[in-house]
Amino acid sequence: MDTIEIHEGGCSCGVVRYQTTGKPERVGVCHCRYCQTRTGSAFGISVYLKNVNIQKTQRNLNKYQFETESGRSFTQEFCPVCATTLFWTLEVFDGITAVAVGSFDPPSFWYDIAREVFCRTNAAWINNDIDEKHDTHPNYEPIAADRDALRI
Ligand SMILES: [Zn+2]
Ligand SMILES: [Zn+2]
Repeated sequence: MDTIEIHEGGCSCGVVRYQTTGKPERVGVCHCRYCQTRTGSAFGISVYLKNVNIQKTQRNLNKYQFETESGRSFTQEFCPVCATTLFWTLEVFDGITAVAVGSFDPPSFWYDIAREVFCRTNAAWINNDIDEKHDTHPNYEPIAADRDALRI
């Protein structure tokens, strides 16, 4: 019988802790402008797990919800004390939540990266050997033109 993987993590200040069970549904590097502005970095990495496989120790995370140019909601959840964004959910992915990879306790980078999305806005110096790359996203169906802030 396989051992079920358990990983733990938390925010910068330690108020929010979580535990994940099992393997991710998917792991992707995302170069979209939402991930860049959310993280303040060049890209986001999402470890998508089923909601039932994520146990949070602090239920009252602050939330910020907005609508993307595809007309669907994007909700970020962050620590009420230190504002570390730990989770996000996309309307398009029902029943699963993305965990912010840098928040996992060591070994923080325990998963394989399956693909890269929104490469159209990647930083020019990004260079890696991930095979599957998408200019936008396989599920991307914009209903409005991209705002200026979504371009680089
Ligand atoms: Zn915190
Ligand atoms: Zn993104």
